[in-house]
Amino acid sequence: MNSSEIKKLDKEKIVSTYSRYDLVADSGKGACCISADGRKYIDFTAGIGVNSLGFCDDGWVEAVTSQLKKLQHVSNLFYTQPQVEVADILTARTGMKKVFFGNSGAEANEAAIKTARKYGTVNKGENANKIITLNNSFHGRTMATITATGQADYHKFFTPFLGGFDYCDANDIKQLESMVSSDTCAIMMEMIQGEGGVLNLDEAFVKAAEKLCREKDMLFIIDEVQTGIGRSGKLFAYEYFGVKPDIVTFAKGIGGGLPIGGAVFSEKCCDVLEPGNHGTTYGGNPVACAGALEVLKRIDDDFLEKVAEKSQYIREKLMELPQVKSVSGMGLMLGVEIEGKEAGQVVKDALKEGLMILTAKDKVRMLPPLTITYDEINEGIKILKKALA
Ligand SMILES: *Cc1c(COP(=O)(O)O)cnc(C)c1O
Repeated sequence: MNSSEIKKLDKEKIVSTYSRYDLVADSGKGACCISADGRKYIDFTAGIGVNSLGFCDDGWVEAVTSQLKKLQHVSNLFYTQPQVEVADILTARTGMKKVFFGNSGAEANEAAIKTARKYGTVNKGENANKIITLNNSFHGRTMATITATGQADYHKFFTPFLGGFDYCDANDIKQLESMVSSDTCAIMMEMIQGEGGVLNLDEAFVKAAEKLCREKDMLFIIDEVQTGIGRSGKLFAYEYFGVKPDIVTFAKGIGGGLPIGGAVFSEKCCDVLEPGNHGTTYGGNPVACAGALEVLKRIDDDFLEKVAEKSQYIREKLMELPQVKSVSGMGLMLGVEIEGKEAGQVVKDALKEGLMILTAKDKVRMLPPLTITYDEINEGIKILKKALA
């Protein structure tokens, strides 16, 4: 099929939940994507923060294909090595205790939400099932996670929603303190609100939330689905804030392109979920775990330092562009405020010139592969410059 045939069939046969950009992706290597028309694009999206090592990284392809030739799936009724290896690395590097594996960010957060509700009910009483999340947050698209998402746009059409969620303004410590009651079992937040516009939380607010959780026996849940696995320049963004969460959820970047997500639990809540309480057929699939294992092995301290250096470099290059007003975010998760042109239009114009970027609210969002080279960065910035002119 050529690209116009693919687009036509997509329009006819795929439910239109996405308004796609005008690119039929065919192949890729590193931070370069080749379209079905044979055009080259520089990729500053990494499949929305998923392709941590870029397209078709050699080591990752080798790790995934060798697992694929051995055993593709066996279900969670049996043991497999890749799953325990990923869990072993995640717990060792966070100092936390146990991992639950699912297949997506929404599922990761579902596991956290169920754990919090059971923790509250068992330890604090029948009604201790309320979870505080933040306004402008994003936690996923399932019924529980759109309810957790503090944005009115996501709360249209699908009533009735789950009860038990209250929304606090980000960085408003007084409001947070006033919202906590004996019925609150958890506080849940992103360290950088990604879909919400790449907004970094204040350290004082994050610390205050942690303190409240300690004082009132609530679980401190951090959604690192977008910020996690090296994206921020640390393995998890919470490390910048000097806090110790009870549950950290992860997904996007860990599989390097395969669907896998999950939650890491601290000592306090690692045995809350028991047989029969929760599960998912594909969770921790050996092929996805083989991909995750390669990603985690590659993201060592030296790698993270390079992510931080590239971040600094891109920020400087962006700030040299006269239309760029500010750059938010951390590491290779960047929100660019642009003057004189609407973000959605910038994305379309950049794509025409050969650069893939994203939006987040009224900002241009960049999530390049963590392995992006300086040449690829320079090429991307040059294209953006043209698109903004
Ligand atoms: C993308 C995202 C999710 C949802 O992940 P899915 O894999 O799309 O279900 C949840 N939380 C955050 C912070 C995200 O960025």
